[in-house]
Amino acid sequence: MLAIQLPARLVVRSITSFSSTSTTAATATTLQEIAATRKGLAKVVLKKGKTQIFRDGSPMVYSGAVDRIIGRPPPKTGDIVLVADGLEKPIGWGLYNSVSMFCVRLMQLEEEATRDLNCALDMEKLLETRFDAAIELRRSLGLPSVDTTAYRLINSEVDIYFICRLSGLIIDVFGDVAVVASSAAWVEQYKSEIELHIRTMKNIKHIKWRPSIDILKEEGLDITDQTDSDSSMLSEVKVIENGICYNVSLAGQKTGFYADQRENRRLISLISKGQKVLDVFCYSGGFALNAAKGGAEYVIGIDSSSPALELAEENVRLNKFNPEKISFMRKDATEFMKEAASRQKVWDIVILDPPKLAPRRKVLQNASGAITQSGTFLRILQGAASLAGRKITILRQAGAACDHPIDPSYPEGAYLTNYLLRVL
Ligand code: SAH
Repeated sequence: MLAIQLPARLVVRSITSFSSTSTTAATATTLQEIAATRKGLAKVVLKKGKTQIFRDGSPMVYSGAVDRIIGRPPPKTGDIVLVADGLEKPIGWGLYNSVSMFCVRLMQLEEEATRDLNCALDMEKLLETRFDAAIELRRSLGLPSVDTTAYRLINSEVDIYFICRLSGLIIDVFGDVAVVASSAAWVEQYKSEIELHIRTMKNIKHIKWRPSIDILKEEGLDITDQTDSDSSMLSEVKVIENGICYNVSLAGQKTGFYADQRENRRLISLISKGQKVLDVFCYSGGFALNAAKGGAEYVIGIDSSSPALELAEENVRLNKFNPEKISFMRKDATEFMKEAASRQKVWDIVILDPPKLAPRRKVLQNASGAITQSGTFLRILQGAASLAGRKITILRQAGAACDHPIDPSYPEGAYLTNYLLRVL
């Protein structure tokens, strides 16, 4: 059994110490006590009834949830602030942004601060602890390995609760390169600390910074003119995933490579022997290459992006696959499918991995978005199948690879759902 030792300061105070001022409750919280020693720490007080979602793990405090801000002078962008419930009792702390629709990115909840006093209200310490935890978690998952050198090290707000919630920061490792995708002002503010922690990883030689310029503008930051701090100006790197080599373009889509599909791609290599395979939305060829490795009779990959297809073709050469068995075509997916249907083309395995269709804000505001989306998807699928007079069964349902952890109290984090369907 797990015994939790409460810090002495958390032992419930006698009722006589209760103060009638609204800032002090019967029990002083850890954050309240530490904050008392800091001057000028502002408090963002949430509206009544808007607290639970953040206590449960949602890290982005949107302006609509805030009732008032206590503090003279008022907090500036980048300041550490307390986030408190309607009674002004702290539920956590985070970094303030006066411009963004997310006015606080919660970094640590009260109960986390109680467990780990070292990091409470200390961004440098928090970053250090969470980097160590993230590296250790990936190591325990066998990443990196001789077979796989591409993986996600930090998974923004969707990384696991209590360990690595760093909203707005994504870091993918590709061989000896770490790609940092920043979409929050605080990430840019702590750039040198983040780079310092990355450099503690022995295998990393280069850091590629990929800021989401438009999202950062909404956060009040214009970084259009900033130059990359990596002087090597590296533009690509070779990685291995499931034993297949890839050339990753560091100017490519998102961070350059979709490491989240690793386990789903591997499944394709296991079921493709002797099959005719179509990989729609193939990008740099991940699923197609796995099908070829698994002994497919032939594989065709479709994508609308020329740079993506150049990478895919290069990857065929890198792995010395027979170009007669795997080829790529630049086409719009819908046009291609319509044309194929009219010509009654048939494949044994069809992979569909389209880009995200829902607008960002809508996804963020719908707390149970991922769950309802997958329910809706299944209903649409069922409808389409009956229209076509076909029968569909679900053989497997999966998500992103295990280095993309999900916090169950933050269902938006489960952004990727993958179905293996049998169509009869
Ligand atoms: N399956 C890929 C990742 C796919 S990402 C992998 O395993 O790495 C989605 C891809 O869809 C992108 O490469 C993008 O260029 C492509 N895409 C977007 N719209 C498209 C369209 N209308 N037709 C074909 N491809 C499209």
